Amino acid sequence: MSDKGKIIIISAPSGCGKSTIINALLRQGEIDMQFSVSATNRPPREGEEHGVNYYFLTDDEFRSAIAGDEFVEYEEVYPGRYYGTLKREIARITDGGHNVVLDIDVKGGVNVKRMYGDQAVSVFIKPPSVAALRQRLEGRGTEDADAIAQRVARAEFEIGFAPQFDHTVINDNLDEAITQVSDILKSFTGR
Ligand code: ADP
Ligand code: 5GP
Repeated sequence: MSDKGKIIIISAPSGCGKSTIINALLRQGEIDMQFSVSATNRPPREGEEHGVNYYFLTDDEFRSAIAGDEFVEYEEVYPGRYYGTLKREIARITDGGHNVVLDIDVKGGVNVKRMYGDQAVSVFIKPPSVAALRQRLEGRGTEDADAIAQRVARAEFEIGFAPQFDHTVINDNLDEAITQVSDILKSFTGR
């Protein structure tokens, strides 16, 4: 096995609790992994910081990153909203021997797993139901009604990708979901 770090892919429809689970695992610090900061052309939400949550790019900057072949993968996750994993983020983390965790959409997740094979593990987080997902998005309060409707509609399509992932975890009870993901990642990273 090489000294390079491994790739941890966490995907789920928006609002299923990916960020909550990833942040809890990063805080616990039991798994050696660092967060890959993606690029996006969506505007920052309140409290989000450039270089921490995302690299927030203009449309032109995102286009030129595509033209410059700077992405491992990118997707138009919502109409006009692009998100992409930067090659230099993955390299920065894995070249240092650390594992990297990607919070990416389901299509990106399937593509990255295909690219990295056994060097990657993919975990799909499922909501207990579409109704629960809608409630969580409403409760988070970061999107307006149109954006919530768009995300819920897309969720049904995205849930169909679950069988293509190595593991599926249902995020009903949050603590149980965190433990399940933690166990999967400990076994994958060998800790
Ligand atoms: P994602 O990153 O997948 O878009 P978030 O982590 O932002 O989702 O979670 C969406 C909302 O649901 C947040 O307000 C979060 O606090 C809440 N949430 C996450 N997991 C649960 C859970 N198991 N039960 C209830 N609410 C949850
Ligand atoms: P949000 O706008 O809620 O932060 O993210 C919307 C969706 O974009 C989520 O499903 C998130 O996982 C996905 N996403 C974030 N970064 C990337 C990325 O680099 N590539 C892909 N394909 N999806 C991403």
